[in-house]
Amino acid sequence: MRVHLTTTAAAAVRRGHPWVYRDGIAGGGNAAQRGERRRGERARGEPARGGVAASGDVVELSAEGAAFLGRGLWDAESAIAVRVFQRTQAPQLDERALAERLERAFALRDGWFAGRDTTAYRLCNGEGDRVPSLVIDRYDRAAVVRLDGGMLAPWLDRLLPHLARALGARGVRSIGLRAPAGGADAEGKKLAHLHGPPLPDRLFVRETGVAMEVDLARGQKTGAFLDQRDNRARVRALAAGRRRVLNLFSYAGGFSVAAALGGAGRVTSVDSASAAHASAQRTFRENGVDPAAHEFVTADAFDFLEKAHARGDRYDLVICDPPSFAPSERAKPRALGAYRRLHTAVARVLERGGVLCAASCSSHITAEDFLATLDDATLERDDLRVRAVHGQPEDHPTLPAWWEGRYLKFVVLE
Ligand code: SAH
Repeated sequence: MRVHLTTTAAAAVRRGHPWVYRDGIAGGGNAAQRGERRRGERARGEPARGGVAASGDVVELSAEGAAFLGRGLWDAESAIAVRVFQRTQAPQLDERALAERLERAFALRDGWFAGRDTTAYRLCNGEGDRVPSLVIDRYDRAAVVRLDGGMLAPWLDRLLPHLARALGARGVRSIGLRAPAGGADAEGKKLAHLHGPPLPDRLFVRETGVAMEVDLARGQKTGAFLDQRDNRARVRALAAGRRRVLNLFSYAGGFSVAAALGGAGRVTSVDSASAAHASAQRTFRENGVDPAAHEFVTADAFDFLEKAHARGDRYDLVICDPPSFAPSERAKPRALGAYRRLHTAVARVLERGGVLCAASCSSHITAEDFLATLDDATLERDDLRVRAVHGQPEDHPTLPAWWEGRYLKFVVLE
């Protein structure tokens, strides 16, 4: 099956961008090819030469002046019509080729995490590991698979034996599949069993020598925010000697326990979800830290900040890692406004001489955009400098042309 691209889409594919949006497909008039559906029609695309493609079909990409641009998998449903897997003719795009790429991704992690007392990490970061759509996170003896888009679902049965073998050799016993965003069963569980013994709903993993509870069944992402691992270690180092630490949007308390272990006097964790605090407290205990010496507040972060300011509370270290404010390019102006409001409020409770760690996980917000929400006018003070701007760790690799993959910003102001 052949899919003809517009000049712009072809240039992106040449640079190594792994996505072809539907409007990147040339040929106008062919609604089926663009994946549009008539009422009652099953989702299907119809790449040229009269073939009909279903999700998961291998397609060959061509463009004006280029008979062969690469090969990818067709997605009949999502905005991304093709995810590009290769720009060479050989080898064929089959499960063997995918299994080889996965083995490469896993072998890299073997090296990266050797001797780091870390049992939870991303084994495959989809596009960034050149296996588009496939994310695999390891949580000790369990692995959780997440499929972005619909093109790899028809491949899963064929890939599973390869996965089971390669992961089994590394001590992973069970494999589960994370439901797409918003999907959950009647008990609120978002994890389906694929292979091996049943996956635990909750378990403790180790991260840079710290125990961390992960909720595989109901947690966010595939269970934890693995992308903040190195930043949690940074917070641990920054916390030494700090009397009062504030962790906003604390979720399962990863930054909180890091700060407590780093020597902070009293850590205040704020999250709107009380279940998150229960998990955080179990993590504190597992690390030998008494949660009673710290504070867990179930509240809206904006409300909390307003009240803390009114009370005159001040903190020596503040970590602020909210959920994504900009899920799309269109949401960007509003998101920047929200970050500004948040940072203004945070700066009011930051002690002179304190450290502010501000994070953003929206790929639509660039580092420069984000830094502009931390400028002097927003913070209403002129005593801080940007000490460092960090991003995501090596187990979340990207591609030079795939800017969307570089979503995490972690700015340290002091
Ligand atoms: N910093 C965390 C991840 C944060 S995820 C970590 O590294 O693990 C975002 C968290 O923000 C979720 O736990 C969610 O419950 C919480 N949240 C969302 N909106 C909120 C709000 N307005 N006020 C307080 N917490 C909020």
